Amino acid sequence: RFQVLSRQAGLPAVTLDGTRVELWGNIEFAAEVDACLSLGAAGVGLYRTEFLFLTAESPPTEEQQYEAYAAVIRSLQGRPIVIRTLDLGADKLERYRASAHREANPFLGLRSIRLTLRDPELSRPQLRALLRAAALGDVRIMFPLVSTITEIRRARALLGEAAAGLAAEGVAFRGDPPVGVMVEVPAAALVADHLAKEVDFFSIGTNDLVQYTLAVDRTNEALADLYSPADPAVLRLIERVVRAAAARGIDVSVCGAMGGDPLYAMLLLGLGLRHLSMPPHQLPEVRRVIRGIRDDDAAALAAEAMAMETAAEVAALLERRLREAL
Ligand code: PEP
Ligand code: MG
Repeated sequence: RFQVLSRQAGLPAVTLDGTRVELWGNIEFAAEVDACLSLGAAGVGLYRTEFLFLTAESPPTEEQQYEAYAAVIRSLQGRPIVIRTLDLGADKLERYRASAHREANPFLGLRSIRLTLRDPELSRPQLRALLRAAALGDVRIMFPLVSTITEIRRARALLGEAAAGLAAEGVAFRGDPPVGVMVEVPAAALVADHLAKEVDFFSIGTNDLVQYTLAVDRTNEALADLYSPADPAVLRLIERVVRAAAARGIDVSVCGAMGGDPLYAMLLLGLGLRHLSMPPHQLPEVRRVIRGIRDDDAAALAAEAMAMETAAEVAALLERRLREAL
């Protein structure tokens, strides 16, 4: 079945009534670009760079990072790529940073953009490497776990400092690549209208958005039944982010697991999303779902779901509708 669907990789992801949806791939390693391209991804919507840091004994140098990004950009041959800055907590950097410390709640701790802002020694080589790599293709830079406007302003200032340093040294770089944020903390979703003025795009990280909205540890198997992307609170936040992006005319995508799940892809389409990024192996199935439904039916489905009071009702509705559609 996967093979049959994979053969349709060249077909556009267009609904029966002509709405085009951009399907992009999520990657962790350069080698995964091939899978994205062969399965028809129009670009890479999430390149998780923390793997460069986790697979080495010491943090990768600017040069090593530049080479890694350049390889991915080259193999994309002009297609867009969203590169996410380091999305790790102090817990994971412990082995090579004496300053790192144990935290009682790493998911609520010094991580992601917080670490980027606090530790310029760690982040400067990455920001410089990203600006240099941005001169090689359609590169967009994304900051994870943003909660406040102040954080993104400070991150942009750091990017500006990195650019000034490169300019002073006469190194080739692009100074004004698109800059976006992951919306994956409820606080960011709630102020999305303000955030939209500061950035070029949003990417909704539903894995963390579900975790933080419902206060359910995404890694705790004992709570798996409580971890529900269909929860009305999560859906309201997503709807709010999509509206804020539309009002400002900036791009918004979903790069969390919800976007790659056929069940939720229908709902997200109905909520107005036109751009989903997912692990490459999920592209064929999601493409099939998009090609099998009407956009106005998806919108009606979303309206129905948004009026429901429990995750269980929403999930049952989506399952019923998916069975009818396939
Ligand atoms: C997310 O949180 O939804 C996401 C895409 O990022 P990660 O899974 O890497 O936290
Ligand atoms: Mg996340």
